[in-house]
Amino acid sequence: MGLETYRKMRDFRRTPEPKGAVSKTSGRRFVVQEHHASKLHFDFRLEVGGVLKSWSVPRGPSLDPSEKRLAVETEDHPVEYLKFEGLIPEGEYGAGEHMRWDGGTYEVIGEGTAAEQLEAGRLDFALKGEKLKGAFTLVKMKRREGEWLLFKRTDEFAEEGWELRLRKPENGVETIKGKAKGRGQKAKGEIEGGGHTRKFDTAAKGGKAVAVSSALRRKALEGDVSVKVGREVVPLTNLGRVYWPDEGYTKGDLVRYYYEIADYILPYLKDRPLIMKRYPGGIKGPFFHQHDVDEAPSFVRTVPLEVEDGGGHEVDYIVGDNLATLLYMANLGAVERHPWHSRVGDLEHPDWFVFDLDPGEGVAFETICDVAVTTRDVLARVGLDSYPKTSGSRGIHVYVPVEPVYEYGQIAKLAEQLATVVAREQSKVATVERSKRKRGAGMIYVDHMQNARGKSVVAPYSVRPKPGATVSAPLEWKEVERKKLQTADFHIKNMLGRVGREGDLFEPVLKQRQSLEGVFERAQELFNQGAKRRRAQRA
Ligand code: MN
Repeated sequence: MGLETYRKMRDFRRTPEPKGAVSKTSGRRFVVQEHHASKLHFDFRLEVGGVLKSWSVPRGPSLDPSEKRLAVETEDHPVEYLKFEGLIPEGEYGAGEHMRWDGGTYEVIGEGTAAEQLEAGRLDFALKGEKLKGAFTLVKMKRREGEWLLFKRTDEFAEEGWELRLRKPENGVETIKGKAKGRGQKAKGEIEGGGHTRKFDTAAKGGKAVAVSSALRRKALEGDVSVKVGREVVPLTNLGRVYWPDEGYTKGDLVRYYYEIADYILPYLKDRPLIMKRYPGGIKGPFFHQHDVDEAPSFVRTVPLEVEDGGGHEVDYIVGDNLATLLYMANLGAVERHPWHSRVGDLEHPDWFVFDLDPGEGVAFETICDVAVTTRDVLARVGLDSYPKTSGSRGIHVYVPVEPVYEYGQIAKLAEQLATVVAREQSKVATVERSKRKRGAGMIYVDHMQNARGKSVVAPYSVRPKPGATVSAPLEWKEVERKKLQTADFHIKNMLGRVGREGDLFEPVLKQRQSLEGVFERAQELFNQGAKRRRAQRA
């Protein structure tokens, strides 16, 4: 991956952190750093391929094998960071005291190199540190991008009930205890994970702010400018940076698009936690996921949510439903908007579910349109209306708005049955086979798996980090039936014109809260019928 992201995120005139270089030789060193940033956490880094592969571990590593700790992937760091200790100044990324907590060397256990094992999503390794010793595992969580679990394996160095002792106590807390015993109850003195986003005031830093409407009217946007959005000040930086190199579109173009489309997209983000993926160097550069927001301007709404890692700890999500936040996120390099299917206040009950028709290599868009129409018709047979949009990537999303009274589990099962019926009716071109390898090229995956808690689908009107700066565009069923369209038809340069003519085609998705009364039974019946018919055909 290299160090581009690391460098872009830092101002080396201000931070004492090393600029560093990718090392030509790669040793097998590791370091664990205690980082008193706005939220205390531990940085776990392994030397792989000339850089330090890095994870932010909110509760730190543990020698107790029953303690599985969340480890969130962060940007690669230079090997010079192995020795880094110091104070990152206020206002800089990761501001706060940074100290070495442990370090030493590691060895890979089992087949393959560290890089290969990480690529495959599981690394088994043995640490030789001063505090951490013996076998550990890092394993990537399924369907949770960028999130891993770090835990001790049982061996002679394992220690039940082990407590992590901080080098520097914070708020009187000296140790981080295990969670395994007495789940749900928090031990006394234990560090609470949630609600710790540090909010800062941008008005003070803003200097001379310009009204957003006049600032973004300029044709070529470049440099830095602070814009006034109502009472808020949003600092916009490096607006001339090219984000889409083939088209020459800049970060300024991205910010301007979100400004212009705000009235259309914001209703779909309202009260919903967002999953943030940042492309600080544009769409061809490295990206990283940021679920947990350490610090944000005061106008950014955040919500602490429990992460399902077994540790019961919380991370702060952005709720990106005001204009200032929409622009602030664009400025962070967040190209897409990925809202949850449910809203803060009632997070357990989604108010829409989605079929993602995801084509393999070489599938014609006409065929995707066909499968979308079949999806609509299958839904109509159980009594549900549905609404299509381009994914902005290669496929079509079909949305079904529902009354937010059903659990994610119920919805997921319903979606699975209906997707299976669609795949049966279009068996030559569509499948619900999850394995990419098994479903074969040329097939459309009727993906119903995005309907779980914490999952998301790109919002209508969201930009995609794809050639042409495509946008996920709501469609009329008529257009899908006519089949004379493709993904590339909708992008940041023409979307505003389209909504001017068509209005918001997706509006019913917000308004039509369909009851599932009777729907579950009809779907079950349809699902069984198909299975019966298939058995009869085989007999
Ligand atoms: Mn850190």
